Amino acid sequence: MAKQSFHRICLIFVIFETLHCSPAITTTPSYSCWRQTQIDYYINTEAHPQSQQYINFIFERFSAFTPFLFRYLGRNAAGIRHDSKNTISFLREWPTTIPLSHIGFTQRWYDSRGIVEADIILNQQSVGFTTVDARQPGKYFIEGVLAHEIGHLIGLEHSENKDSFMHHYQKPEETEWNLAFSDAMLKRLKPCR
Ligand SMILES: [Zn+2]
Repeated sequence: MAKQSFHRICLIFVIFETLHCSPAITTTPSYSCWRQTQIDYYINTEAHPQSQQYINFIFERFSAFTPFLFRYLGRNAAGIRHDSKNTISFLREWPTTIPLSHIGFTQRWYDSRGIVEADIILNQQSVGFTTVDARQPGKYFIEGVLAHEIGHLIGLEHSENKDSFMHHYQKPEETEWNLAFSDAMLKRLKPCR
């Protein structure tokens, strides 16, 4: 039981201060918009080819049903790095600056006109990941966890609605990505305020 409650953990979003960046980068964003609707992304070099398939699949859903058009451009070094490449990484070593209880984390960077970059990391040190096809019990679904983090990537904050994929507490089974339900939710998204 104790283990189960440990897994009822938080998907979070925090904006780090990016003091080392150019003066154009602000530390307190005034809005959560991208300047452009086409967003390129990368996947960390070590990620399994099958994970890449599922990641691309979820981005395709966002491309189909939100104002954004996502394009996969290849592999990149893992982690949160302000390198102008939006990167999705599976990390076996979670950063010490982020609580181990978080299974996903998205960092956005801004300039005066909006979001300029976002990196997503997924915590393989604390939890296991599965997919809708594999369905390994007790593990988090890549699709649902990633969809939540892509939500942050495009500028969304958490939802109070427990049924929303942007709700901040999710049990493993709640991260299952139900296509019909989730596509309908994506169609209703208003990502930029
Ligand atoms: Zn979150």
